[in-house]
Amino acid sequence: MSAAEDAARPLEGSVALVTGASRGIGAAVALELARLGAHCVLTARTQGALEELDDGIRAAGGTATLFPLDLVRDADKLDLLGPSIVNRFGRLDLLVHAAGVLSKLTPVAHIMPRDWQEAVAVNLTACWRLIRTCDPPLRAAPAGRAVVVTDGLVAEPRAYWGLYGFGKAGQEHLARSWAAEVANTKLRVNLFDPGAVATKLRGMAMPGEDPTTLAQPADVAPAIAALCLPAEVRNGAVVRFPGR
Ligand code: NAP
Repeated sequence: MSAAEDAARPLEGSVALVTGASRGIGAAVALELARLGAHCVLTARTQGALEELDDGIRAAGGTATLFPLDLVRDADKLDLLGPSIVNRFGRLDLLVHAAGVLSKLTPVAHIMPRDWQEAVAVNLTACWRLIRTCDPPLRAAPAGRAVVVTDGLVAEPRAYWGLYGFGKAGQEHLARSWAAEVANTKLRVNLFDPGAVATKLRGMAMPGEDPTTLAQPADVAPAIAALCLPAEVRNGAVVRFPGR
């Protein structure tokens, strides 16, 4: 490979796990990481959407493997994800955790047990399980990088967003604790706050909003991919998309 090709594909040879890859921010990041040379393991529940992304990645000259998974119902598979990827590819270098659920916008006093359980399971418990299964191979990687997608409302709680926000807050705390624990290793763990992005999740929260006025997933994806580069030295940072 020439020096110019090397520079264009700085993640060549690495393996990336992307959650929430069926649409929105996760799908856009996976495409970006694949363009930069990473082999992407794509996970979400919607197999058809993962297949479409796989086609897009191939068309862009990249490679991917599909790993359809419900982060809540397939907890056993999730717990084995790190070792499964290592068994198949010999390594896991990058983790981008973009899966998330809005659940419902509702007053805290009106949160129903079922909605509470879904929000805890997707936005918080899944992050802990992912960290648990991915930590050993990410630490062993020559330049392990993890990015957890957070939300600006963690720092600024808003009325009716508590059901969504508490899980994101817990996830942010977990990821920052993990970052502190790996500070003396080669692994770098950061959070990324994309601001308002035109996705299904945003559309459910703000149905009256014109999505063309918002950042698109492809706008924020390069900033997330940048946190996955070997050159990234930050650890435990909450990086906010400049356009937010
Ligand atoms: P999105 O388009 O609705 O995508 C959410 C992703 O999460 C989908 O790929 C979905 O896949 C996956 N997911 C949800 N529940 C799952 C489950 N039980 N098991 C496996 N995968 C599951 O939303 P998005 O806006 O791109 O959100 C991505 C991240 O950005 C989230 O963490 C969100 O909190 C964060 N964020 C978004 C905004 C915004 O304005 N959009 C702002 C701040 C932060 P399946 O349905 O196929 O399973």
